[in-house]
Amino acid sequence: MNIHEYQAKDILKKFGVPVPTGVPIFALNEIDEKVKIIKTNKIVLKAQIHAGGRGKAGGVKVVDNIEKLKAEAKILLGKVLITHQTGPQGREVKRLYIEEASEISKEFYLSCLVDRASSKIAFISSAEGGMDIEEVANKTPEKIITTRISLGKGLSKDDVAQILKPYKLPEQSIEQAAKLIESVFQALVNTDANLIEVNPMILTKENQVLCLDAKINFDDNALYRHPDIVSLRDLSEEDPAEIEASKYDLAYIKLDGVIGCMVNGAGLAMATMDIIKLYGSEPANFLDVGGGATKEKVSAAFKIILSDKNVKGILINIFGGIMRCDVIAEGVIAAAKETNLTVPLVVRLAGTKFEEGKKILAQSGLKIIPADDLSDAAKKIVKAIK
Ligand code: GDP
Ligand code: MN
Repeated sequence: MNIHEYQAKDILKKFGVPVPTGVPIFALNEIDEKVKIIKTNKIVLKAQIHAGGRGKAGGVKVVDNIEKLKAEAKILLGKVLITHQTGPQGREVKRLYIEEASEISKEFYLSCLVDRASSKIAFISSAEGGMDIEEVANKTPEKIITTRISLGKGLSKDDVAQILKPYKLPEQSIEQAAKLIESVFQALVNTDANLIEVNPMILTKENQVLCLDAKINFDDNALYRHPDIVSLRDLSEEDPAEIEASKYDLAYIKLDGVIGCMVNGAGLAMATMDIIKLYGSEPANFLDVGGGATKEKVSAAFKIILSDKNVKGILINIFGGIMRCDVIAEGVIAAAKETNLTVPLVVRLAGTKFEEGKKILAQSGLKIIPADDLSDAAKKIVKAIK
């Protein structure tokens, strides 16, 4: 789960990370009242969307009076912002954040994340902050320092020194920066976050160290421990089909292709996606209905696939173990009747009750193309959509 920058800063602040004073804005008429907490003449106005790259796309404005702030806010609120992370369709700005502007002397990159490969917490630090860290990583990887921390041992003084090394901070700022690192580490561990990214972390002209931008991604599997974090979820920033899928506890990820897939088991789902590619097409989604899915769940899954306008055909590939093929068949028929199915549907059923499942489908009156195995199924659906 992702949250907005202002929410991330609020969390980091609670763990002791220095952040500029700021306040979120949900409607233009709130500005007069809310701006009072800001004590600087210069104010930063920032679009709040679940995507980075706002600066380059016009989503971050520095203004020096309230009239200009209101004028810029009026332009930004409701605007569709297209950044390199939003995709070409962009994202509508529904929330703004205003904060005290900082006098920047230097911009740095800092992130802290769960590093699966080493089973450790990794800090990534670089003096090349503010810009695309991906580009720095590609062109000048030596400018990026990775420091791995074992959870059992915790963060040592040496670790902190290594993390801070690329920044070459003035002596008087080092203690403050060390505290920031410790606070980010505590925030990651205590909120079950996967990633905390501070880009940029800055050194101000007064040699203060500040977190100027913040992104946090949380481990969905640990959210049950954090109802306060769950309450920060902004559903309008999420894909509607993925929200619908999460209601039914379906593992659904939208992709860019044209063949909708309904599969049980993540391994089979991956294999199905691979074989679709092998025969020259692209999957429209990853969908795992799971083990003991009910007719209702299967039906919901089928409707979610069909709600994707890119879908030109559907491939159902079920290996019945705990999952019963007759339940799949009934769910598909129920959903197909409600949605009036117009795209080709290829079904491959194997395992528990597959004969019953095939019979139910054959008697349904639906135009279904049966398939015998994975390869046959993929060939048939690719051919059917051409
Ligand atoms: P992003 O582009 O979505 O990552 O948004 P950021 O919050 O990182 O802001 C982008 C850029 O705006 C930063 O790298 C800064 O250069 C600039 N910026 C943000 N806040 C301030 C501020 O308080 N003062 C000044 N001078 N620049 C700022
Ligand atoms: Mn940023």
